[in-house]
Amino acid sequence: MNIHEYQAKELLEKYGVAVPKGIPAMSVDEAVKAAESMPGPLYVVKSQIHAGGRGAGHFTNNPEGKGGVRLCKTSEEVRDAAQAMMGNTLVTIQTGPEGKEVQRLYVTDGVDIEKEYYCSVVLDRNTSRVTFMVSTEGGMDIEEVAENTPEKITHVDIDPATGMSGFHARKLAFALGLEGGALKSSVTFFMSLYKAFVELDAAIVEINPMIVTDKNEVMALDAKMTFDENALFRQKMVAEMRDETEENDAEREATDWDLSYVAMDGNIGCMVNGAGLAMATMDIIKLYGGEPANFLDVGGGATAERVTAAFKIILSDDNVQGILVNIFGGIMKCDVIAEGVIAAAKEVDLSVPLVVRLEGTNVEKGKELMANSGLPIIAADDLDDAARKVVDATQKAQKAA
Ligand code: GDP
Ligand code: MG
Repeated sequence: MNIHEYQAKELLEKYGVAVPKGIPAMSVDEAVKAAESMPGPLYVVKSQIHAGGRGAGHFTNNPEGKGGVRLCKTSEEVRDAAQAMMGNTLVTIQTGPEGKEVQRLYVTDGVDIEKEYYCSVVLDRNTSRVTFMVSTEGGMDIEEVAENTPEKITHVDIDPATGMSGFHARKLAFALGLEGGALKSSVTFFMSLYKAFVELDAAIVEINPMIVTDKNEVMALDAKMTFDENALFRQKMVAEMRDETEENDAEREATDWDLSYVAMDGNIGCMVNGAGLAMATMDIIKLYGGEPANFLDVGGGATAERVTAAFKIILSDDNVQGILVNIFGGIMKCDVIAEGVIAAAKEVDLSVPLVVRLEGTNVEKGKELMANSGLPIIAADDLDDAARKVVDATQKAQKAA
């Protein structure tokens, strides 16, 4: 789950991470009022959307205009900036071409930047450790740095059993060439960031840029946090920060039904149980020249209701021209799944080819139910057969359309 920059900063500040003073605003007037309560002489108006690259982005109603982060000197400028942002659609390298509508703003007390750095904390699944990544290339697109100049990124792993010590923090600071007051301030910064990451069950904390101010203080000028959804039950404060308007309809619906769903660019909708099987299904679709429209894991308890919900989510994507259901009936019996698929196909008035591959307990009974359903379901024997059939049927449907 993602949260907004202002929310991330609010959380980080509780852990002692230094951030510029800021006030969230839900309207243009609120933004102006926020600025007027600040000392000045610089105010920053920041669009709050769940995507980065806002400063370099543009608004669809004014493509040549300024981006989603603006430095202002007067409250009139703050009003203009807020007006240009609020309710308009911001496109950045992370939003995709359709962009995201700005519904919240954050006004911050502008700080004088001496230098910008990059800092992130992630869980490295290869080493099973929390890993810090820092770079002197702050404010830049870090993927690009990683690609072109990987030597400019320093990694420091933290053993969760012993936790983070001053030694780790100094190693990070030295990698960035920090000295004196900045060095001291950065040690507190890194230690606080680690504590926040672990205690809040974060998956990613990205500070880009982390800055050294003209007063040699280290601060988070920007903050992005992503959380492990499996831990939200014990992170009430974080869970309450969820902004459903930032999630697309299909993803929100999927969350409500406890389905893992990720939309993609292809035209073959997939409904699979188990993340591993879902990945394998997508791979084999591509192997036969098709493109998956989504990743969808219905999980172990594929009940008729959840199968129906999953069908609706898949079909809400206009690009879908064929569906592959690939379910292994282990916990759930195949006949129960078949009943669910039939009920769902009838309820949603299925208009695209549907290929079903079932395997496991009561598979024969399941196949029989589908064959007698009167629905144009294409039965498949194994994964290979299923992928071939769905790619073929989708291509035919595409030609006919
Ligand atoms: P992003 O574009 O979505 O990554 O948004 P950021 O919060 O990183 O802001 C973009 C850029 O705006 C930063 O890299 C800074 O150069 C600039 N900026 C943001 N806040 C301030 C500030 O308080 N003072 C100054 N001088 N620049 C700022
Ligand atoms: Mg940034």
